[in-house]
Amino acid sequence: MAKVSINLATGSIQKEELIVGIDLGTTNSLVAFINPDKNAQVINDMGKGVLVPSVVHFGAAGDITVGNEARDYLITDPQNTVFSVKRLLGRSYKDIENYKDFFSYKVIDDDSESPVKIRVGDKFYTPIELSSLILKELKARAEHALKTPVNRAVITVPAYFNDSQRQATRDAGKLAGLDVLRIVNEPTAASLAYGIGLNPEETKTIAVYDLGGGTFDVSILQIQNGIFEVLSTNGNTFLGGDDFDSAIVDYWIEKNQLNKADILTDNKLAQKLRLKAEEAKKAFAHQSMVNDKIGDIWCTITRETFEGLILPKVEETITCCKNALKDAKLDILQIDEVIMVGGSTRTALVKKMVAEFFGRPVHDELNPDEVVALGAAIQADILAGNRTDILLLDVTPLSLGIETMGGLMDVIIPRNSKVPTKAGRQYTTSIDGQVNMKIAVYQGERDLIKENRKLAEFDLKGIPSMPAGFPKVEINFLLNADGILKIQAMELRSGVKQEVEVKPTYGITDDQVEQMLMDSITHAKDDVSQRMLIEARTEGEQMVYTVERFVQKNTDFLSVEEVAETDQYLKTLKEALNSGEKDVIHHAIDAINEFTRPFAERLMDQAISVAMKGKSVE
Ligand code: ADP
Ligand code: MG
Repeated sequence: MAKVSINLATGSIQKEELIVGIDLGTTNSLVAFINPDKNAQVINDMGKGVLVPSVVHFGAAGDITVGNEARDYLITDPQNTVFSVKRLLGRSYKDIENYKDFFSYKVIDDDSESPVKIRVGDKFYTPIELSSLILKELKARAEHALKTPVNRAVITVPAYFNDSQRQATRDAGKLAGLDVLRIVNEPTAASLAYGIGLNPEETKTIAVYDLGGGTFDVSILQIQNGIFEVLSTNGNTFLGGDDFDSAIVDYWIEKNQLNKADILTDNKLAQKLRLKAEEAKKAFAHQSMVNDKIGDIWCTITRETFEGLILPKVEETITCCKNALKDAKLDILQIDEVIMVGGSTRTALVKKMVAEFFGRPVHDELNPDEVVALGAAIQADILAGNRTDILLLDVTPLSLGIETMGGLMDVIIPRNSKVPTKAGRQYTTSIDGQVNMKIAVYQGERDLIKENRKLAEFDLKGIPSMPAGFPKVEINFLLNADGILKIQAMELRSGVKQEVEVKPTYGITDDQVEQMLMDSITHAKDDVSQRMLIEARTEGEQMVYTVERFVQKNTDFLSVEEVAETDQYLKTLKEALNSGEKDVIHHAIDAINEFTRPFAERLMDQAISVAMKGKSVE
């Protein structure tokens, strides 16, 4: 198993080309690299600051801004300003509907399990596209600051991210023109930044406490032979520094005897107060009291009062730490190191309480909002083979996956995964009464299977006849140390199964592997847009199938006008499917969805929601 590095300009193998590390955060994102002195360093392009707020603004003239400037639009133009997109990455509407009111921009309510979409003006965006805009900005800043093309990156994700959230992060990188060498867990990166886990001889158990702008998580990791294993994670995806700011704002509102509802309707004032509160919070690092004014509102608070206000929140994080230890079946004494991550761990009370809980000093020597990016840069350096002290583990040079609807490649084991490895995913059928499922296994980086290399194909036969979306077919890939890939498919409700074995490296040369990687980079953009069009079309076709069937079954419940109007919507959708334009398709899907939603609710018929479930294999 070879690790292939390629020079994009010449196509030759080149070790020197820089690989950056990227922390794609909910609140802030940043990029780091290994400097000529072999130290990890964050990039500050032309003094613009290290942290790039993860905010994207869409101007009326089609102009797009990312970062600090975009953040200013959160008050003046909230509908066209996208923040916290990381919360939507790799998620469906069903996943996020409980907190849909959190977003000030339009998240499409399609009541389905397909990837969520956002509407800005007349355009539909996926979280992948939006994240790619942030990544593009980071890439541009890195290129500008380092005066060299940046084409390869390691990107971090929270340890609790699932498979589709990781895949979405990869796709965002790809769309930004980056060859994503590996997706690394944020706590793993933080640990590497502190040099923990670099020595393959050492065995350690560590806790990584990450309190950011809007999210909190704690991970317990076991490090052995240079491999990081996540023993447990815990946290609260709606707890962070933003809560500290609002606690201060609430306090000022009360002290000034203001009416909270009035303040909140005045967006500009509310934002000013929020910014002032954040300033005060940060000032407590070196002063014990803040005394300021906005108009005739007194903004006064002592550190002691502040700590009293946030105490319940910090206590909540400590409870999460307890739970994480419990889930990892560990005692506090078994934790060797505690690492502080996230801007909010700069708050003294947080550090104090975490240190007290674990009964040891915590690692806070590095900037907590930079450690993840620094560690990602170190991981990148290891992957580039620049660290002779670290043994590079065998990795699989090309991704392994299966064909899904529309001829798309669904990656199950991503390239550069350590070997041995195993991974699996669940699929379902797309047609009622489907009893066979074709499983075609491919290798390669392209989004369309026709551009990849076919390794095997077989039928999973004898699936009991069920409505579309009901069967649960689990496909597992096991790649052993000898490079043999075992593919297992099993329908979980009936137990029907089938298994085949192949050797992915058989019959392919290093040159061919290199060529395949090259092609995937040159075609990355086209590939992703083709994939998005195919996905839109598949979703649309599924919608036509479902709605037609729904109308057929329920003609008696619908009025003649309703049937006629539904037909009209169906016609528009079918035309849209032929248009070859993803936005047109999404518009039509959205329209028919809005129109038919009341029927489904009215009839309490499960058919629609059931048929929409899950991804399906042809
Ligand atoms: P994320 O990982 O969620 O993208 P960060 O790790 O960058 O976010 O953390 C952002 C949070 O850190 C914000 O709430 C910000 O106010 C807070 N923060 C930054 N500096 C300080 C400081 N000196 N004291 C307290 N909080 C801080
Ligand atoms: Mg973070």
